[in-house]
Amino acid sequence: MEHYLDNSATTRMIDAAAQAAIRAMTQDFGNPSSQHKMGKTALDLLEKSRQSVGTAMNASAGNIIFTSCGTEAINTAILSAVYANRRVGKHIVSTKIEHKATLNTLKMLEQKGFKITLVSPQSDGEIHAEDVLEAMREDTALVTAMSVNSETGAILPTEQIAREMHKYAKSALIHVDAVQALLKIVFDATMYDYASVSGHKIGASKGVGALYFKNPKKLSPLIFGGGQEFEMRGGTQAMPQIASFGAACDARCEDFERDTDHMREILELLERELLKLPFAVKINSPQHRAPHILNISPTVGKSEVLVRILSDAGVYVSGGSACARGKKSDVLAAMHVSARDIDSALRVSVCPETTSEDILAFLAELQRAVAKFL
Ligand code: PLP
Repeated sequence: MEHYLDNSATTRMIDAAAQAAIRAMTQDFGNPSSQHKMGKTALDLLEKSRQSVGTAMNASAGNIIFTSCGTEAINTAILSAVYANRRVGKHIVSTKIEHKATLNTLKMLEQKGFKITLVSPQSDGEIHAEDVLEAMREDTALVTAMSVNSETGAILPTEQIAREMHKYAKSALIHVDAVQALLKIVFDATMYDYASVSGHKIGASKGVGALYFKNPKKLSPLIFGGGQEFEMRGGTQAMPQIASFGAACDARCEDFERDTDHMREILELLERELLKLPFAVKINSPQHRAPHILNISPTVGKSEVLVRILSDAGVYVSGGSACARGKKSDVLAAMHVSARDIDSALRVSVCPETTSEDILAFLAELQRAVAKFL
């Protein structure tokens, strides 16, 4: 029996999404740009999916373009914003706990002469809105921050930043990386100038993301081509992936409250059971967090070894973000987690289908794994 507890890295496609993808591959497989009936059917499916993804972000379909992944949406948003605000200045504010999709785009911009301020979390491990606002200046072109941190589930105060930022930098634009927030917490893209999401974190296929933009005049393409996606993202739309994204949004939207309650309860069960273990386990996730992620440190053992022992027993968790692949977590270091606790950190991330049996299996195997170090 296998127990998948790495849903922040990626999720199993839910059945409705897989069926939508198969239909788009085998039956309604036309190109949405074709003029004939099959093209029209594909175009209808594209627009229906756009509507579904828009609804999941509280946005109108006309303000959404599909991309190949969350990373592409983030790149497009950041580069669009700095271009749109090229006369405002070359200063960007972000945080130290962003995903590499953001941090490495900012690093590239820094090499091109932009000034980047990365705000650190406070001693409580949380990013404070005041610190982000205070980092802003008259020449700040963009603030970009995640809504939910992928390693700890921490919720960042992006709404407060969006509401107050223009007192500090009147022309700045705001982008929010909502990849881990979509359908996990209530998320309203219309509070921001741009918001990025990704299909494979919510039970849709890999290879599809979406970007919300408020003002089409402030969006510029990263990929030039045949005029698809309102001329903002060239390339024939990846219809199977897009159809799966729309279907996953519909299914998850319908059950949002039940699903988020379930994920919260299942991680509360984990927290309660961790207290009963014969060794101490530290919780690295802050209090104010999304329902699907819990980052813990058993304080003995090394993450990569624990992940391997658990994996051999059929229990799949992560030592940090999947993209970091065994590297020590910069996010936990920025959150003032001690070196010893970073060394043993494990991320447990659940989805609406996770059961209490999955959690109990993790606890049993964790005990066995940690015993090897005691
Ligand atoms: N942003 C966050 C917060 C993420 O967790 C991820 C994926 O791990 C991404 C961006 C990148 O998304 P994608 O894998 O769709 O490129």
